[in-house]
Amino acid sequence: MSQPVFQRVAILGIGLLGASLAHAIRAYGGAGEVTLYDADPEARAQAARLVQGHMFETARAAAEGADAVFLCVPVGALGSLTAEIAPALKDGAILTDVGSVKQRASEDMAHACPDHVHLIPGHPIAGTEKSGPGAGFADLFRDAWHILTPMPSDDPAYAAATDRLSRFWQALGARVETMAPDRHDRVLAITSHLPHLIAYNIVSTAYDMESVEQGEVVKYSAGGFRDFTRIAASDPTMWRDVFLTNRDAVLETLGRFSEDLAALQRAIRWGDGDALFREFSRARGIRQAVIEAGLDTDEADFGRRALAAPKPDGDA
Ligand code: NAP
Repeated sequence: MSQPVFQRVAILGIGLLGASLAHAIRAYGGAGEVTLYDADPEARAQAARLVQGHMFETARAAAEGADAVFLCVPVGALGSLTAEIAPALKDGAILTDVGSVKQRASEDMAHACPDHVHLIPGHPIAGTEKSGPGAGFADLFRDAWHILTPMPSDDPAYAAATDRLSRFWQALGARVETMAPDRHDRVLAITSHLPHLIAYNIVSTAYDMESVEQGEVVKYSAGGFRDFTRIAASDPTMWRDVFLTNRDAVLETLGRFSEDLAALQRAIRWGDGDALFREFSRARGIRQAVIEAGLDTDEADFGRRALAAPKPDGDA
């Protein structure tokens, strides 16, 4: 293990992301000392048993003296948590997050972040449908993209801090990329947010049909539907906040999606097999590109075996 990038880091919010971060630091380095805090007393108690680090009773106490502070809480809580810890942040500290929406996250944190702190928002493109401290695992970030959305700045100290944060995530095995926050939100609207919305919707429709079809929907839920149920099991608080804070990009993407869906609907209605074949062939090409980019395997069943160990699948 090489020299840690940070002497001391604070992780605030110890659910799937926060616990995984603590496990990854323990496994791969990146930081010497870890302090922890979660607003939920039950999560604190569970994390104290499962996660290596010094647990504090307040966010401010955990953040005090840290070289880098990682906010691993739902996007809607980022602004108030920044305000809460602001007085404790040391000169030159890095403040970052793992939130799935970047424009609103950056604005909310910037509003409360003191000038002497380097605010560098971020988002690991890695996740699962599980939540809570028990869901965390050390390899979540390995070989996954980590997108940083730095604030506009020509301060060399800010550039050095961004470089340091990149090296930290690389030490945990991530591939780091920088991007403008609005671009991040547009890209994630189609690759992550819309698929989750569709999953929630299809499962809800199936739930309504379940009573009509007398249990046959769940019974025959292999095939595509099972994958949707996995995605739709994701944390409701986290996803509520994603849709509320990335509203414009999601609505824009949803509009285009609805038009394309209407075209497929028309092709089915008029028996236009050529149109259906053309669209399905195009989609198959995109699937091939995902495999070639190393983001999934070519195995049947979307590369996931029943009861397989969790692995990063870029959920959020
Ligand atoms: P999680 O498992 O539900 O954990 C979040 C934890 O933060 C909960 O214990 C929650 O407590 C706590 N919390 C809420 N507000 C807090 C506050 N003000 N101060 C301290 N702790 C607070 O959620 P997660 O899946 O780790 O997600 C965390 C963040 O990562 C979200 O912003 C999400 O968008 C992002 N993300 C998630 C994924 C994914 O696949 N899950 C992937 C990439 C990024 P309560 O339960 O009491 O609210």
